[in-house]
Amino acid sequence: MYFRISARTLFTRIISLLIISGFVGYLFDQTFLVVSLVSLCLLAWHYNHLFKLIKWLWLGKSIAPPQANGIWGRIYDGLYRRIRKQRLKQKQLNERIRKFRDGAEALPDAALVLSTELIILWGNKKASQLLGVRWPEDVGLRINNLIRFPEFSKYLDDGDFDSPCLIISPINNELQLELRMMAYGSDQILLLARDISKIQRLEEMRRDFVANVSHELKTPLTVVRGYVEMVQASDAALEPHWQKAFTTIETQVSRMDRLVEQLLVLSRVENNVDADNHQQIDLSRLILTILEEVKWLNQDKNHAIHENISPNISINGNEHELKSACLNLISNAIAYTPANGVIAVTLRNDGNKIRFSVKDNGSGIKPEHVNRLTERFFRVDKSRSRNTGGSGLGLAIVKHVLNHHHGELSIESEWQKGSEFIICFSPEIAK
Ligand code: ADP
Repeated sequence: MYFRISARTLFTRIISLLIISGFVGYLFDQTFLVVSLVSLCLLAWHYNHLFKLIKWLWLGKSIAPPQANGIWGRIYDGLYRRIRKQRLKQKQLNERIRKFRDGAEALPDAALVLSTELIILWGNKKASQLLGVRWPEDVGLRINNLIRFPEFSKYLDDGDFDSPCLIISPINNELQLELRMMAYGSDQILLLARDISKIQRLEEMRRDFVANVSHELKTPLTVVRGYVEMVQASDAALEPHWQKAFTTIETQVSRMDRLVEQLLVLSRVENNVDADNHQQIDLSRLILTILEEVKWLNQDKNHAIHENISPNISINGNEHELKSACLNLISNAIAYTPANGVIAVTLRNDGNKIRFSVKDNGSGIKPEHVNRLTERFFRVDKSRSRNTGGSGLGLAIVKHVLNHHHGELSIESEWQKGSEFIICFSPEIAK
């Protein structure tokens, strides 16, 4: 129902009332008195309703307004309609909040809603089981007062919420948690915590398995290689088919040996075995040494290798790991560039970062493969990679080494034109 009223109607009604009362007064020869009395009654009626309205607004317990006729009836109806609409909206909002909470309670993860000042506003039951944050008891507390881990404080200070933060659960040190934070609405933050203990344990088992198998394979391979070399070195003339067989065995054993060696290096860098073994490394000297060492690798293909190494660039790191990463990039450029190619190896300090790059004019990589290059065992062309002695582990090793050295690998490549592999070390690691 919609009630229309205009100023004109109101005015007409008052004037009509005054004219009628004036006419009645005129009949009794008391025009002024009757008009004044009617006006006073009208005023008293309005004041009475104003008083009722104020009383109902401030003291009334019922949502239904007082009953009245005429214009005041319309006013009360209008107010009542508004209140009902507001109540309906509130009910719908409450229903939505309830559904959100039910959904958040059903999550297998802990969920906390925080203000932008990191004050706890809401949390689900899992939040109390995984993080020890109870709702509503802990509402109003800052999250970093309850989760006091240096890695979490650093995560909050850095403000880079694209990647997760790993912590041990504050209430159960057997649980490994992965925390993620994301903007939620315009002025809130959603914090999700997931129990990744099982995944971590499986990952550990996988790493141990690879490391143990690689280690166990080393001895039999050495024995086989020893016997093959012994037979080949003996004076006894071998029949041609035996000669061929032993040459093939030697090639395959060497391949397997290289693969096992790469697997061992990878599991070493993955497990960050050398974390405590970081020291000041003269990167310029290290790269010049590598370039000297790879000369023999370049003998067959005879690439022109241009060296552009700025002197005295040092970083804090592990020499063994850094050597392995840089060597992988240079030997890949040699392997995947056709003979007589051009390779540029550059090391320079860009002011805010140290940049090492290896650029070749070789086969290049198709854009769809670029993002997968650092996966273990990924090779664009398996048969070609096998011929070059590739295992598909080199760039995975580079990625892990860079994780320990605040470094980033970027790859720019154009199919059939060449590639550039660039490592940028952040200033944190530069000394
Ligand atoms: P691999 O031992 O097979 O060389 P890597 O992890 O070092 O393993 O490299 C993965 C794959 O990336 C290679 O198989 C190759 O296809 C491609 N690749 C690496 N470097 C280059 C390069 N400089 N030019 C072209 N392709 C490359």
